Amino acid sequence: MVEMRKPIPVDEAVRAVMEHASSTGIETVKLDEAYGRVLAEPIIAKHDVPPFDRSPYDGFAIRSVDSAGASGNNRVPFSVIGEIGAGQVAQKPIGEKEAYRIMTGAQLPEDADTVVMFEQTTELDGGFTIRKPFEAGENVSFKGEDAKEGELLIEAGSLIHPGTVALLATFGYAQLTVGKRPVAGILSTGTELLDVADELVPGKIRNSNGPMIEAQLKRMGIECRSYGMAADELDTCTEIVEQALSEVDFIITTGGVSVGDYDYLPAIYERLGATVLFNKVAMRPGSVTTVAVLNGKLLFGLSGNPSACFTGFELFVRPAILKMMGCNAPYMPKMSAVLWEDFTKPNPFMRFIRATWEFRDGKVIALPAGFNKSNAVSSIARGNCLIVLPSGTRGYEKGAVVDLLLIGSETGVQEWTV
Ligand code: AMP
Ligand code: MG
Repeated sequence: MVEMRKPIPVDEAVRAVMEHASSTGIETVKLDEAYGRVLAEPIIAKHDVPPFDRSPYDGFAIRSVDSAGASGNNRVPFSVIGEIGAGQVAQKPIGEKEAYRIMTGAQLPEDADTVVMFEQTTELDGGFTIRKPFEAGENVSFKGEDAKEGELLIEAGSLIHPGTVALLATFGYAQLTVGKRPVAGILSTGTELLDVADELVPGKIRNSNGPMIEAQLKRMGIECRSYGMAADELDTCTEIVEQALSEVDFIITTGGVSVGDYDYLPAIYERLGATVLFNKVAMRPGSVTTVAVLNGKLLFGLSGNPSACFTGFELFVRPAILKMMGCNAPYMPKMSAVLWEDFTKPNPFMRFIRATWEFRDGKVIALPAGFNKSNAVSSIARGNCLIVLPSGTRGYEKGAVVDLLLIGSETGVQEWTV
């Protein structure tokens, strides 16, 4: 008799996974290894930025009082007493109607309080004239205007992107503490699977899930150990999963989680004594997605269907990995868009449709990526998002506003949104 499984809603499934995704710990890394990691400490300004009043332009540093009364008919002359390039400092005080040539980023002389851009002057021999008065503080980049010493700038738990690296460098973080990255194990199950280099033979297909998941992990900077492909054979598969469990922090298997004669993952979980968190999710593709846990390690049983496998990774594996690394915003950001073609297939389950979002005719539109059954592989190669159609809907017509989950986005959001 076929086992009856009770589907749980996607948000519940995500919550169950996240409850079991625990921190992999922290470590110290050098700044040049920080990109893509998660901050284990907040970035607090160690000093003011900029650290001194400086010139935002190439021009002349003057005392604003000396510019009083300047106009087109009453040009005020200044004599230039020296030059300050970026990295240099003024050597002597500025007297009445005196100026320094000053370059962008250079520290303002103590007694200067404004900068006149070259474009606002007429150069003379040994000096220049101006035709308007300047106020104190005009054209000055003030000490601390960007960040004040002691200010909390970026919270612990944030993903480090190139801008974060710039900030860390600004404060001299030659090394910093980050969340450890978990190590993933991947096993592709299926007697029908061939390696990428193999010729097709009757009844067989090439393993596309294994390489795809390696790439999905690589996109997140996660190291993986590949356990290759295994035929649908209970003893062998159990041994490989058991071996993997002793070597990695979590395991992703593909295939074998349904109710077919050769779907052995349920039996493997049982043999190993793993607790199954769920084995049916009210979603398409990927309703058979199964997640189990053993000794605190997650075992993701993704469907063998490529589209379902791809989606299962992005919905469940990705946020779990981010949480293991300590990330406080592990979910894909949501956006809405106008559906650009009919998508009328009714379904009682929440639908995730591979699609492309772009800006067209003044609005953000979403174009489904083509053939989108759960066994599709062509459409997963297109697109930059997933359209989400809630459960119980009868499909949507062109022009309807739909939710999108953004894939491959640099930073995420704190809450699951659909
Ligand atoms: P399963 O989840 O094992 O029932 O497999 C569902 C479908 O996905 C079947 O058509 C399999 O042949 C196919 N499939 C399973 N594993 C892979 C894989 N690694 N790469 C591509 N297709 C696969
Ligand atoms: Mg199979």
